[in-house]
Amino acid sequence: MREAPDGLALVQDLINTRAIRHYAPDLLAGRESAEEWLTGAAGAWARIHGLDVPDCSLSEADPAALRDLRTTFQELIAGTGGDTGSDAGGHTPTSGSGSRSGKARTAGRGASVRLAPDVEGRVRMVPVGRGRQWLESALWSETLLAQRNGTWPRLKMCRNTECASAFYDTSRNNSGVWHDAKVCGNAVNLRASRERKRLRESGAS
Ligand SMILES: [Zn+2]
Repeated sequence: MREAPDGLALVQDLINTRAIRHYAPDLLAGRESAEEWLTGAAGAWARIHGLDVPDCSLSEADPAALRDLRTTFQELIAGTGGDTGSDAGGHTPTSGSGSRSGKARTAGRGASVRLAPDVEGRVRMVPVGRGRQWLESALWSETLLAQRNGTWPRLKMCRNTECASAFYDTSRNNSGVWHDAKVCGNAVNLRASRERKRLRESGAS
């Protein structure tokens, strides 16, 4: 699966904590597994940015809040045309801020960040807080950066509803709909062609 560039992979990681049918459990189901996930994701994020790994401890109430946050990001991404199913003709990528459907329930409480110049004088956003606060701060920072640099509309969810993995579309015209065309594209296409065949055969008899 294509990973989103820079720190945007954190948003992708969050969405991909979801359960996949019977074989992959929801990583945010309980405190222990959520903490384990956050430690890994925050560690990868910190390596990319050359920053310290935050304190990733969570409270018993945090996993539910993280699952809500995940839903918010899923809706945000669906709203960018990743796969709303409504425009079968394909989403036209926009170069600017991107089009947003009003679907996303984005009325978040917001998050704080610290702005600090690095040694070369470039200002960067440093997430603040720990645990869940840190994650929210990092997620919204990465979203802002991706919306500014144009990578945001390329973060999508697989059109195969049983999969719905978040992936980064690297196709030239941003027209990808499957996280992996071989896996999900084929499965869906195969099912559709079987269905057509079945209908043809039942119609012929
Ligand atoms: Zn898929």
